Amino acid sequence: MDLQRRQLIIGPANRLRRESNLTQLSEDRFAFGGQLLSLEVAHARIAETFDCRADVETVALHDAVGRVLARDILAPIDLPPFTNSAVDGYAVRHADLRSDGPTLLPLHGKTFAGHVAAALPPGVAARVFTGAMLPAGADTVQMQEDCEDRGDGVLIRPGIAPGANRRVAGEDVERGARALEQGRRLMPPDIGLLAALGLDRVPVRSRLRVVLFSTGDELVEPPADLAAGQIYDSNRAMLAALLSRLGAVVDDGGILPDDPDLTQDRLRDAAARSDLVLTSGGVSAGEGDHVRAAIEAIGELTFWRVAIKPGRPVALGRVGGTPLLGVPGNPVAAQITFSWIGRPLLDRLGGASYQPPVRLFAKSGFALRKKLGRREYVRVVIDAKGVAQRYPKDGAGILTSLTHTNALAELPEESTQLSVGDPVSCIALALLHG
Ligand code: AMP
Ligand code: MG
Repeated sequence: MDLQRRQLIIGPANRLRRESNLTQLSEDRFAFGGQLLSLEVAHARIAETFDCRADVETVALHDAVGRVLARDILAPIDLPPFTNSAVDGYAVRHADLRSDGPTLLPLHGKTFAGHVAAALPPGVAARVFTGAMLPAGADTVQMQEDCEDRGDGVLIRPGIAPGANRRVAGEDVERGARALEQGRRLMPPDIGLLAALGLDRVPVRSRLRVVLFSTGDELVEPPADLAAGQIYDSNRAMLAALLSRLGAVVDDGGILPDDPDLTQDRLRDAAARSDLVLTSGGVSAGEGDHVRAAIEAIGELTFWRVAIKPGRPVALGRVGGTPLLGVPGNPVAAQITFSWIGRPLLDRLGGASYQPPVRLFAKSGFALRKKLGRREYVRVVIDAKGVAQRYPKDGAGILTSLTHTNALAELPEESTQLSVGDPVSCIALALLHG
């Protein structure tokens, strides 16, 4: 970033501060000739600018994991479908039990799971097994461990609560109730719930088609040999993996050289055949950065700076009606901006309701000073004692800072420092990767 340019553009209210050997603005919300957006504002812009672009299709349940539910699912049956025993034991009428001592009840019938139970007359107990239908008239089940089987009768100990150890029809989901809400990305337990309701097909949103480019003259596709000054393109492989996890179909656009005209042509073509164009690199203000300028030349820019670190330059816009997201080239910044901007965008376009990842608190094992006005994500390992230890190398290009850690510590905009022992809000990386 060009300090002179910054100094020209910033307002008089901004101060300069010397931090280690870098001269930085102490408040950079207004740097670069435009306000940095908070993540919340960026998410609101996404929601107001873009609509769902995915159709509805029906898929087999075993193909539905990770797909976006297109309709609310109303339970066609009660779950469980009938009242049954939660344990192996003896079904009784609670009113038949003495409260002041054990009750000896004659045994009357036996029901295994999957079989029909005969009604229970008053004054007797029936042998039942886990999942077996509760005989009509029985309301309580005593676990076999708490009973004494006397052959033709059973001794029930006192103290059991009425209704214990039974599972009432519809107690999980009542027939007609909404079991799952449209917009949900189906997780393995959702698949289990749908199967339990008797469904073998499910309406989902069609997959989004995403054309994915890397940009940069320095990039080489593995496994070709590297010449001087070149590096392997890692972002495209990583972003393709992130996209696939979200159910998108990746159309590989390859590597775009740092050429403004070619960039415009290729992005225009890609926009015409996709639901989203995703690029990495070339979104900063450098001379070799052409993606943002291309969006402005052939489409409209929605925003291009978000107040997060790593990640700040991220260009979102539209070309010929198709959304185009340009994440920064540094691999950690690419991953983090994809997670915080790309994920909600894909959810919006794909008809999914965006659920920000759950934050959990850990104890900070490190101290840090930060700039006011931006959210910082520090790569950490949360250890078995719940202490978040900072990964020692934290540049935006350090790929191992995402492979050798398990969480991001999130330092909010309004904070300027964190001390050892402070509670710190963290997001598990596994949740961030979709
Ligand atoms: P840029 O955002 O284009 O200015 O790139 C920032 C840094 O990320 C530079 O060091 C680039 O070499 C690097 N970079 C850009 N694209 C990729 C990529 N696809 N894979 C790995 N590194 C990249
Ligand atoms: Mg570049």
